[in-house]
Amino acid sequence: MRSVALILAAIAIHASAAECGPDQLNTARTITLKREGALYGAHQHTALPLAKGEVVLTFDDGPSADNTPLVLKALADQCAKATFFLIGEHIAQQPDLARRLIREGHSAGIHSNTHPHLASMTTDQQLEDLKLSRAAYKTAFGVETPAYRFPYLEETPTLLEALKRDNITVASIDMGINDWIPEDTTAILAQRLTESLDKAGRGIILMHDANGPTAQALPTLLKVLKDKGYKVVHLEWEAAQ
Ligand SMILES: [Zn+2]
Repeated sequence: MRSVALILAAIAIHASAAECGPDQLNTARTITLKREGALYGAHQHTALPLAKGEVVLTFDDGPSADNTPLVLKALADQCAKATFFLIGEHIAQQPDLARRLIREGHSAGIHSNTHPHLASMTTDQQLEDLKLSRAAYKTAFGVETPAYRFPYLEETPTLLEALKRDNITVASIDMGINDWIPEDTTAILAQRLTESLDKAGRGIILMHDANGPTAQALPTLLKVLKDKGYKVVHLEWEAAQ
């Protein structure tokens, strides 16, 4: 009986190892950032402390009922953790899907309430958009957002000041794959990712979970990372006080 139990235990260990083993991309390590008004992403700010070959996966504009579940499946299949920058109105429409991101081990920040061009808005309108997006996040998750990514990466002095004051990290990017064109094929997106990786070599990658072609292409994009030997670093934030 004892040997049967041992064999069964061995099978169980093997089964879980096979789920997240050397065949998967995996998550190499986690960086836990402080809740402070820091600014990251070499495209506009200081680079995160990443080694060559380390990348952070980020997805904007969700949650999307059509596409985010595909992204979550592709990430789960590769045991890779990502950070999602969510639009307030989309959180309010899909609160369960938003919470599923966290349940599956990912992290989330906000990406405005309605994805406007903030620079063309008045100070009051900008602050109102921030307030509404923070409220949507808090309603869904029960905590304050730790991070913010500007729509179109268009930063404004008004919101930079407000985010710094309220200890919200500004998350810019190091590279993207320009994934917003509906006709993009998986091959095109994989080629763009390859070119961005070859140029930047490390850093925060911007993708869009709300974009159908990206969701369809993600298994291939993750394979590109794995084949090129990149390591995934997961961004998290300290718990709110
Ligand atoms: Zn966006």
